[in-house]
Amino acid sequence: MSRITKSKDDSVLIEVADSAGYCWGVERAIDFAVKAAENKERPVFTHGELIHNSHTVEKLRREHGVTHVDDHLAAPVGSALVIRAHGVPPAVKREAKAAGLEVFDGTCPLVDIIHRKARALVDEGYEVFVVGQAQHPEIIGVVASVEEHGGKATVLETLEQAQALPLLKKAGIVIQSTLIAEKAGKIAAALVPKAREVKIVNTICHVTTERQAEANHLAGAADVILVVGSPHSSNTIKLAEVCGAGGVPTHRVETVADVQLEWFEGKGHVGIHAGASTPVEVIDAIVAHLVDRLSLRQPV
Ligand code: SF4
Repeated sequence: MSRITKSKDDSVLIEVADSAGYCWGVERAIDFAVKAAENKERPVFTHGELIHNSHTVEKLRREHGVTHVDDHLAAPVGSALVIRAHGVPPAVKREAKAAGLEVFDGTCPLVDIIHRKARALVDEGYEVFVVGQAQHPEIIGVVASVEEHGGKATVLETLEQAQALPLLKKAGIVIQSTLIAEKAGKIAAALVPKAREVKIVNTICHVTTERQAEANHLAGAADVILVVGSPHSSNTIKLAEVCGAGGVPTHRVETVADVQLEWFEGKGHVGIHAGASTPVEVIDAIVAHLVDRLSLRQPV
């Protein structure tokens, strides 16, 4: 499903993916920060920037006084610490509480499930493999969770890394919530000839799956695509990969200021998608700009 708008002169179709913008996990983490800030008697910090979107981070600072610390122990005693949707290593929450911080745990419940599934693999005697980006906070948290549970976790970012593994006995696999299923599936499948027993737990979140299905739809329907989101947002980068995979010109933009009207010359169907950390007002501003400015009948 998608939202269809037309340019003012009716000549250009602008199709916005229904799932474009905040996912519920991100909305939930923002709600935690806003709730934490209701108590004005102590400062509120998020553990790292709450989401990869400067517009939202700045709005939280301006309207609610919420700022961030990169190291949880840098927050002064008595302040509130909001954990973002990506989650953290379990030790971070314990240390923060022990240091006298009030912890608001905004970890997405679907990320919590990845921690639990990975630890269950350890209990079942599997060596754990995490398909994902080693430096992504979600993966850092999952790996720490496994290690704290007495297991061993190896991150696999590429097919080559999976193919280079030695022979294994029991390999248990979980997957970063925002990965492209086909790509992650190839990496996971490479473990099948390596181990006597392989268990794959598909932990890609359903929001990601819906977003990618809509990206595939746009890739087949539109003749130019904008993917709105921060240059640092991994799910925005992956969405742009899916949108552009079939050769449709695909541009990543963070705000309306990045939109270049020459991208749309001669194009009659514009697709718009956005990452899970993109606020709806940023998407709406881009749509309004295109509605006003695009026309197939006149030069833009
Ligand atoms: S993308 Fe999925 S796992 Fe990640 S925060 Fe959103 S709902 Fe949760």
